[in-house]
Amino acid sequence: MAQQVLGWAGSRRLLRVLRDIMKGGGTAQERLDQIVRLIAQDMVAEVCSVYVMRAGEVLELFATQGLKPEAVHTTRLRNGEGLVGNIALNARPLRLADAQNHPDFAYRPETGEDPFQSLMGVPILRDGRVLGVLVIQNATQRNYAEEEQETLETVAMVLAELVASGELVSAEESQSDTAALLPVRLPAIVLNDGLGLGRVVLHERGIVIRQTVAEDPEAEHDRLRAAVAEMHSALDELMRQANLAATGGEHEEVLASYRMFAEDRGWLNRIREAVNGGLTAEAAVQKVQNDTRARMAEVRDPYIRERLSDLDDLVNRLLHHLTGGDGGSASDQLPDDIVLLARTLGPAELLDYDRERLRAVVLEEGSPTAHVAVVARALDIPVLGRCRGALAEARAGDEALVDGDTGQFLLRPAESVRDSFAESMAARARRSALYAETRDQPPVTRDGTRINLFMNAGLLVDLPQLDESGADGIGLYRTEVPFMVRREFPDVAAQTRLYRRVLEQTGDKPVVFRTLDVGGDKALPYWRGSEEENPAMGWRALRIGLDRPVILRHQLRALLRAAAGRELRIMFPMVTEVAELARARTLVELERGRARKRGEDLPSAIRVGAMMEVPGLLWQLPQLFQTADFVAVGSNDLFQYVFASDRGNPRLARRYDPLSPPGLRLLLELSQAARDAGVDLSVCGEMAGQPIDALALVGCGLRNLSMAPRAVPAVRATVRSLDLPPLARLVQQLAEAHDHSVRERLRGYARDRGIVI
Ligand code: PEP
Ligand code: MG
Repeated sequence: MAQQVLGWAGSRRLLRVLRDIMKGGGTAQERLDQIVRLIAQDMVAEVCSVYVMRAGEVLELFATQGLKPEAVHTTRLRNGEGLVGNIALNARPLRLADAQNHPDFAYRPETGEDPFQSLMGVPILRDGRVLGVLVIQNATQRNYAEEEQETLETVAMVLAELVASGELVSAEESQSDTAALLPVRLPAIVLNDGLGLGRVVLHERGIVIRQTVAEDPEAEHDRLRAAVAEMHSALDELMRQANLAATGGEHEEVLASYRMFAEDRGWLNRIREAVNGGLTAEAAVQKVQNDTRARMAEVRDPYIRERLSDLDDLVNRLLHHLTGGDGGSASDQLPDDIVLLARTLGPAELLDYDRERLRAVVLEEGSPTAHVAVVARALDIPVLGRCRGALAEARAGDEALVDGDTGQFLLRPAESVRDSFAESMAARARRSALYAETRDQPPVTRDGTRINLFMNAGLLVDLPQLDESGADGIGLYRTEVPFMVRREFPDVAAQTRLYRRVLEQTGDKPVVFRTLDVGGDKALPYWRGSEEENPAMGWRALRIGLDRPVILRHQLRALLRAAAGRELRIMFPMVTEVAELARARTLVELERGRARKRGEDLPSAIRVGAMMEVPGLLWQLPQLFQTADFVAVGSNDLFQYVFASDRGNPRLARRYDPLSPPGLRLLLELSQAARDAGVDLSVCGEMAGQPIDALALVGCGLRNLSMAPRAVPAVRATVRSLDLPPLARLVQQLAEAHDHSVRERLRGYARDRGIVI
């Protein structure tokens, strides 16, 4: 602590001198020259240099103490070139005792830097953008201390003010506009489906920090306290309104956990420490966010990355309160049809926008577990994520189309494209009106075969769609989804409450609960496995459940309690061999025995199923059908393994087609084996919800399909318009073909026979 106090005193003194330089006369260049001299002296370094980012992503040496003066405005490095470029590119500090042996070291003779061995540099950041780099160098091998890096980062905050002022490089130059205004089509992942058409609104944080160095730290602490309190009550109000407006479900929990984040002591303490170091409250908030971003840059865990965007949102709010902003967006000046574009977006930021005007959201980052995606789903707004380049390409006011079916973002579309998109939106609206009328018609083929259509769900907000779609039940309830949006592992009581709510809302219709399918790309915030080279083939799903039986048993216990008095269907994901399923069944039996002993009410029946997702299981079919009460094909995973083709890799999307001879042969043999064994078989991957795929599945002998709720009406129409015997014959023939894909042949068949696809 004594060390810390000393550190603060040193940092404050340095900042006071810096403030005087900033306030003093002279040109910006002269002030910069004074600053590098001061830092070199204060930090006992032979060299201190400032590089400024210029148009075209070039870092130019703007001031130096210790390098040759003639290098100033001559030495230029590309972003990413040399150690300075490395710091800028990664927006992360470097502290190197032996800089010359670093692989990124780039020798520049004009600077005369060969005698300097060690280097410490930090990015000059403003609003997440790198404006330049501040570096010190020493002749000898020096191990720079963490506190010294802190000091340099604090100085970089002050320099950011100088660079952003536009006195060194004009603001126009740093935002030079080179992109031509042509139509652009960018791929993205779908976080919430649907179509949106509107005008681009750039979600800008745009907060100006006018003063970085504090006059009076105590006064800054007071301002910080007041702003935090204001932020909390503003957030509470926002949450209150959101909860009143929306229909209940996990998004409430998401908002609550986000609200708790705002009270995180570690975060607030780090801000207070930066104020102790001599920064104004707003500069301290910004500095802590810069540090956090730098520290988290390497983190690949999608959950943590998403929490970072929540934190960005909070920082933005806090800064608004500190700088007297209104804390929200200027909705009045926004168009009536907003396509919102952001790098990341917190759930509360989404709620700042008028729901009535919001047509779609496009994010440069974002993953399916993003809190914003959960809230958007509750509000029924299409969202695209990981849309790289969207911010660079888009201009505010551009016309934009968001295709949340195929995961595409179209900017400035040609008139014909826009018109046909608008037409397909209108057709879709007409179709849903039509489908609503057919809701009660049974999905029976023309020759009289009943096909059961179930829906997939994962959140409570999905459940009302069971009634709306007229589905026969829930064929796949992904229990990991509610786990992923929580802050901590739900205990047995919390899980019981959740499953009970699911069962209450589904009434007499059956529900298949799939046990936790985590690992791979589905991360839980509070529980981490080790980093894996190949997570899709890693420690996931049932493998974790069997290795950590307590977790699985707790889940089974909650399911048994929730289903007291009615039938319970449990399904295990990623079963790789029958022995695993047998072990999982034993755990069910242990829990049943335990409940019985304790006198608890039991389900009236328990059916245990397995997901067919791993090809190895295909060679144990007789044993599988003896051990499982039902089997569901997880075609998303099964075909990724069958074709060795990552389901999340956009470059491989649609490269291999399950509607191909090997795909059909697999499905035909599997469904025949299930029929022979008298075991129910269903398909619950995405293909079950595509009419043309569903047609093939029915032709292969499948009688149970489970799909996204919005797909049910379309597949019902397909089923009602098909004739099974000729379709089955066609599928048999196609399974013998040599084609890469038989999709088009099926499509032609459907068209010729008036089958709705
Ligand atoms: C599947 O793999 O097809 C499936 C339904 O499971 P998930 O998509 O949740 O992995
Ligand atoms: Mg799966």
